[in-house]
Amino acid sequence: MQGLSKHTGWFPVVLRMQGTRVLIVGGGNIAASKAHLLVSTGARVEVLSASLCSELERMVVDGAVHHVAQDTCVQDLRLRLAGCRLVYLATNDRDLNRDIAAVCKAQNVPVCAVDDPAISTFITPALVTRGKVQIAISTGGTAPVLARRLRTMVERILPEGLHHLANFMSAMRNELRQQIPDTSARRQLWERFLDGKGAQAALVGDMAEATRKLQELQTDNTVCGEVWLVGAGPGNPDLLTLAALRLMQDADVVLYDNLVSPEILNYVRRDAERVFVGKKRNRHTLPQENINHELIRRAQAGQRVLRLKGGDPFIFGRGGEELEALAKANVPFRIVPGISAANGCAAYAGIPLTHRDCAQACLFITGHARADGTLMLAWNTIALKNQTVVIYMGLTMLGQLCAQLIAHGLPENWPAAVVEKGTLPEQRVCEGTLATLPALVADWQIKSPALVIVGEVVRHRVISPRN
Ligand code: SAH
Repeated sequence: MQGLSKHTGWFPVVLRMQGTRVLIVGGGNIAASKAHLLVSTGARVEVLSASLCSELERMVVDGAVHHVAQDTCVQDLRLRLAGCRLVYLATNDRDLNRDIAAVCKAQNVPVCAVDDPAISTFITPALVTRGKVQIAISTGGTAPVLARRLRTMVERILPEGLHHLANFMSAMRNELRQQIPDTSARRQLWERFLDGKGAQAALVGDMAEATRKLQELQTDNTVCGEVWLVGAGPGNPDLLTLAALRLMQDADVVLYDNLVSPEILNYVRRDAERVFVGKKRNRHTLPQENINHELIRRAQAGQRVLRLKGGDPFIFGRGGEELEALAKANVPFRIVPGISAANGCAAYAGIPLTHRDCAQACLFITGHARADGTLMLAWNTIALKNQTVVIYMGLTMLGQLCAQLIAHGLPENWPAAVVEKGTLPEQRVCEGTLATLPALVADWQIKSPALVIVGEVVRHRVISPRN
């Protein structure tokens, strides 16, 4: 299938349009909507068609577009095409469109037949415009409905007043370039500006305050970076928070470990440095102190350091330890919570964590064994009915865990489940009881990461009828 080829086949660029000639062939509503789009770029728009819809007629009367009132004759087109920056074909005659497209191609004039990417040499992306800021979304002409949906999503996350901010930055650009010739120093200044009150002022159009803030930043040349401790959720990028996404786009460097999937890392700014600090294949983990030291060293050198962790950083994530070290070293930090494995896995497996009938509490525990291979847990508070027990890192010790829960009073047929690679497309849910689960898990060859959920809620598992 062409769509699955590893090449996109299309490359988005931004064309200079002011004062250039554009030809639209066709006089209906589609031609009118293209004419609107093109007039707003400052291009000189000519519409070639024997008749015009009322909207185009109005545009002609207003002097916004020039009307060439004649039937389209392929032979006569050659001259008219010469020097056109773009040609749009918006007639409803596909054969005619194809013939004109061939002439355009022969003359090397870019041509777009509306709704017919196969004969076009360019396509029009879905556009989000805020003043000079333009975001173009293309699906290579294959899924325009999807492109429009994405446009709505982008519209929603863009702040109001973005055009003010863009205008301000554009107005200050030359001045700043002269004052700070070093590109990366300039970039850092702008990044700090965007993070601070100056950008907020610009967004609401308060240019005087924005200018003051920018000047303040220029005189305050203490280099100090920051560490952002961010939860990346259980693996599925859909579960990233907006705050996580924003910081992933802003960071200079990201320190991440095993649970952070490649799909998630894709959302980190492309030119940010990536440092893996998790368990290596030889099972050797970078000691926590080294990680703390690295975070501090980089922040003190002025970097914006993203410490990206699976799930939530404060749940079995050693986030607390890292922040203590930062606070001690006087390094500023921010923390962004993430969806923890318990929430993500439970939701994607359809197992509620509490239930009015059978689980009035939910306990998160770690099944990680101590150095001597044993589990030190308060079994009497764990092996209780009327609660759900979620066990992180419980796969290796699953046999012992189940045996202890039975030994401390839970019935052998007490429901229990394991969710493997929860929230990801390859998620598997293995349901059983305390007596049967270890053998089932071995049988299914369940691998880490996997989360154990124990309690009657497992019996209340719900699966949507259409899935
Ligand atoms: N801070 C993380 C937990 C880190 S401990 C959080 O809040 O989720 C690592 C354990 O989390 C794994 O051993 C596993 O038990 C669980 N886990 C993390 N992601 C998981 C996933 N996608 N599916 C199943 N379990 C997961």
